[in-house]
Amino acid sequence: MKTETIAIHAGNHTDESSRAVIQPIILSTTFERGLDGDFPGGHIYSRSSNPNRASLESVLARLEGGVDAASFSSGNAAGMAVFQSLPPGTHIIAPDDMYHGLRNQLKNLFAGILTFDFIDVNDVDTLQQHIKPETGLIWIETPSNPLLKITDIKTVVTIAKTNGIKVVCDNTFATPICQQPLSLGADVVMHSATKYFGGHSDLMGGALITAEKTDWWLKIRQVQEMGGAIPSPMDCYMLVRSIKTLPYRVKGHVHNAQLLAEYLDQHPAVERVMYPGLTSHPQHGIAKQQMLAFGGMLSFIVKGNEEDTHNVINKLQLFTRATSLGGLESLIEHRATVEGPDTRTPRNLLRVSVGLEHIEDLIADLKQALS
Ligand SMILES: *Cc1c(COP(=O)(O)O)cnc(C)c1O
Repeated sequence: MKTETIAIHAGNHTDESSRAVIQPIILSTTFERGLDGDFPGGHIYSRSSNPNRASLESVLARLEGGVDAASFSSGNAAGMAVFQSLPPGTHIIAPDDMYHGLRNQLKNLFAGILTFDFIDVNDVDTLQQHIKPETGLIWIETPSNPLLKITDIKTVVTIAKTNGIKVVCDNTFATPICQQPLSLGADVVMHSATKYFGGHSDLMGGALITAEKTDWWLKIRQVQEMGGAIPSPMDCYMLVRSIKTLPYRVKGHVHNAQLLAEYLDQHPAVERVMYPGLTSHPQHGIAKQQMLAFGGMLSFIVKGNEEDTHNVINKLQLFTRATSLGGLESLIEHRATVEGPDTRTPRNLLRVSVGLEHIEDLIADLKQALS
């Protein structure tokens, strides 16, 4: 089946008892035993499993081409489950521009338990030099946040496999509509479902999807169940509902992002645009090979200093000044402020989550703000 069909059908089941076409939200925390002591409904207690979560996990697994998925209460909870599943002393290689929330998690919560190096994983020599006998995981994030750098997934996977190392890919920016890392050899895909899966800026969630049901995956499942950072039945329902339109929403985001990137690229007040769909992007070739589409996120550098940059965002009428991404409405953000004092993001960089408004309205707004 094609993605559009999977998105609509893989997470929905007509309700057996009421024949409701859309699966009801099952809020019950506990499930009745049969006379033989078994659980005829297949569920025992909602921390372990719940019908709405099972539906969500089945559509997530299918969309990424995996065999199983585990959902979480946020993207960071999903990332944390990966780190908690690793034996103490494991060495992790992660990108130097890893999503700051997960980088901070490693630095603040896992120091002394795991060891890690934040490096440029795109530089093959640097990557190989940092592999140690105890390296158990290479974490990648492509396109990266906020510089939209591209990591060659197949190259990293090849190096990882020859050294017996697992690869997890944060696929939040791309979504399975634009990129399917499992098909390129990654072991597990991670998502912040808060972003494009939710798609309406009104829920938080996270997910892990696996290519194989390994012992490591069972450990991740244990972290999910025993740790309990699970999404509520209501959030699972909302996600299943939103995912039905994911393929069409993402196509719209991609369409607008490409046109906006091209507009900004030729604007005299803009120094540089980072969008993998531009031929000027240094890794456009790799992006073209491994991505099905280039996503809805872009960053651009304003000609001038931090004050000039704030003047641009403050003049915008249609773009909302807010963090996060993947919602219907366009958001713009001064990323260096969000990332704090140790950020390496340029002070005149703006990150845009390109929404689904009409492209002419978006361009008109940026035009007046940049003038
Ligand atoms: C938002 C985000 C996360 C964290 O997800 P939350 O749902 O906010 O916990 C991780 N990675 C990327 C790339 C993100 O954009």
